[in-house]
Amino acid sequence: MFGKDGVLKAVGIFGGTFDPVHIGHLRTAVELREHLGLDELHLMPSARPPHREQPGVSAKHRLAMLRLAVGGELQGKGFTASGLVADDRELRREGLSYTVETLAQLRAELGADVALCLCIGMDSLVNLHTWQRWRELSDYAHIVVAARPGWHLPETGPVAQWLAGRSTDDPQLLSQSPSGRVLVEAMTLLPVSATKIREDLAAGSSVRYLVPDAVIQYIHQHGLYKQESS
Ligand code: ATP
Repeated sequence: MFGKDGVLKAVGIFGGTFDPVHIGHLRTAVELREHLGLDELHLMPSARPPHREQPGVSAKHRLAMLRLAVGGELQGKGFTASGLVADDRELRREGLSYTVETLAQLRAELGADVALCLCIGMDSLVNLHTWQRWRELSDYAHIVVAARPGWHLPETGPVAQWLAGRSTDDPQLLSQSPSGRVLVEAMTLLPVSATKIREDLAAGSSVRYLVPDAVIQYIHQHGLYKQESS
């Protein structure tokens, strides 16, 4: 495990649009942190995602909701008791939110002796070759793929070639180097999607228990998601 007996400190990153954050994201974040023994897991809203339609709700609101969701008592540098933190670094940059730039920035801040784990879904891994400077991602971080049971790594194409020699099924290996490995974590992901939550809110339906209460309150206070395009 990370963080004990001389093995590297480990920091995870879990990116997304979080439009809005929901219990699927939060439960996955908690499980990833525990399974990987991460010291911190940064949930990082993409300000301007390069690979999808721009979110209807501003990055500032999406970050505020994420902060409420990971909330609780802030301890020291903005970290919560759960070890989850809402990280605003992609809002502080201009232009599209390229992950490789985020990782380079984090690596520069953390130094060489920290294991950095970029957590992504299998859907993202399959399309990894469309990301900016994608081959460099593993220079900065390990990649952890949260996959529903039954998913398999790509077996042909550029991503499959890149995976050869990098993939491992041993989480402990990640703590022995700062970057460069790919680990698949089979997880039961809750059947919740932000798209459906936005539709429910636009229709005036309740999203209670799918989204933390404090986030629901924020949504109502700010009149968000009243229509699909809000
Ligand atoms: P949308 O419906 O707007 O596409 P989403 O909830 O699927 O939203 P994001 O907010 O961009 O997507 O997701 C952030 C991250 O959370 C992504 O890595 C995505 O794969 C993952 N994710 C999405 N839904 C779930 C879920 N139900 N359980 C666990 N992880 C999820």
